Amino acid sequence: MQTKTNTKINPEKIWDNCLKIIRDNVSAQNFKTWFEPIKAIKLENHVLTIEVPSQFVYEWLEEHYITLLRKTIKSQLGKEGKLEYSILMDTTSGSGSPMTVKIPGRNVNTLKNPSLLAPINLNSTIKNPFIIPGLKKIDIDSQLNPNYSFDNLIEGDCNRLARSAGYAVANKPGGTSFNPLLVYGGVGLGKTHLAHAIGVEIKEKFPQKTVLYVPSDRFMNQFVEAVKNNSYNDFVHFYQMLDVLIIDDIQFFASKEKTQDVFFQIFNHLHQNNKQIVLTSDKAPVDLSGMEQRLLSRFKWGLAADLTPPDFEMRIAILRKKMYIEGIELSNDIVEYIALSITNNIRELEGALISIVAQSSLNKKPITLELTKQMIDKFVKNTVHEISIDYIQKVVCDYFELPLELLKSKTRKREVVQARQLAMFFSKSLTKSSLSHIGMHCGGKDHATVLHACRTVNNLIDTDKKFRSYVQDIQKRINIQREA
Ligand code: ADP
Ligand code: MG
Repeated sequence: MQTKTNTKINPEKIWDNCLKIIRDNVSAQNFKTWFEPIKAIKLENHVLTIEVPSQFVYEWLEEHYITLLRKTIKSQLGKEGKLEYSILMDTTSGSGSPMTVKIPGRNVNTLKNPSLLAPINLNSTIKNPFIIPGLKKIDIDSQLNPNYSFDNLIEGDCNRLARSAGYAVANKPGGTSFNPLLVYGGVGLGKTHLAHAIGVEIKEKFPQKTVLYVPSDRFMNQFVEAVKNNSYNDFVHFYQMLDVLIIDDIQFFASKEKTQDVFFQIFNHLHQNNKQIVLTSDKAPVDLSGMEQRLLSRFKWGLAADLTPPDFEMRIAILRKKMYIEGIELSNDIVEYIALSITNNIRELEGALISIVAQSSLNKKPITLELTKQMIDKFVKNTVHEISIDYIQKVVCDYFELPLELLKSKTRKREVVQARQLAMFFSKSLTKSSLSHIGMHCGGKDHATVLHACRTVNNLIDTDKKFRSYVQDIQKRINIQREA
């Protein structure tokens, strides 16, 4: 449909034809976001002028769709066909200050209004967190903590897969099959540390890449703000122009439909453009109830790697590393005592070490095994409110006078099976652990077994009086020791 006398031809008609071609070449979402809002306003001497909503959109088109646009225009207007943009100045922000900032030249690295700085300053009331005029793309504050590096992240059996996948991603962001990389595991096992380490490493290797670490609640707050301020599109565009997006604790997205919606849009865009996505969650994907199926299925595109509690050797290694960083010296028996006492939360392990050191320097007493024991006793008591699976297992085993090893074994003896099911039931209701994590700790079972156990216990509570009294007794014991 080439034309030589295009002065007479309606620009809208030509643009409509272009849109038909473009629609076949981009995703529906991208079409809607970037092309639908465009209007054709002029056609003169083979030059089609289109009106785009903002400088940002103009730059985005130039950066991502220039080849497609060029080809499309030439197919409609012939070899001499050219495209010109007219940029609408946006004056919708309440304060009356224009949202668009004219950027001289066509430096695609210069973005109009990245929301980048919003994350730093969430608590203060920024009217529109998305306007940072003249900010360059590479100036984005990645919100990364340099102390959370790979160097400081000890490797062990419990994190080997996640750590190496993270390292692979950091060396080739968007270029491995680990996209998205989803790291999951219980509290204090190093998810946040690993998430930062990936970002820190990428920034070191590829300083030009825009990396953003954002905790999920901050993402949600920004989203809510953006909706309130009518800057939804800016919010989405900002996230869509990242090279690496790291969202921590996505379990908080569960049951938040609108957040999941917008995240879905951002996710798709980044993924399509081979940008890296890193997510963490305190639950395995199968246990993320309240998360839409379409998101869960996308998580499967990449790799889900779990972190489990560290074994004894790793706990020692972590303590030693921390001692080295902090310049602390302690005898072996003390380090071992700490490692034996605190078993399934690395944050608490470090916390115990620091309080022992603090206590000894406050009281000007040397750190002895005695002092360590006193401190650990207090520390463990103080942290019992965070009930652990180990602790529940211990209470259940004490109650039925069963050795713990039996509960953790594979035996199918009736009374052991029942105790195991109760331990699973209480672990599910009293801890934040995932079904698969609980299963692994109760004799290496899978998540389906744990689910089955929870159902069985619930049924028996309803139907079996004696069983119900067991449950009540155990519950009491857990509560008593929890409050002690
Ligand atoms: P999560 O996000 O899973 O709750 P964090 O990443 O906040 O846990 O880790 C808790 C603490 O434990 C942090 O101080 C972190 O540096 C430390 N930590 C976790 N895993 C390791 C590890 N493998 N080596 C050294 N320190 C670790
Ligand atoms: Mg965390």
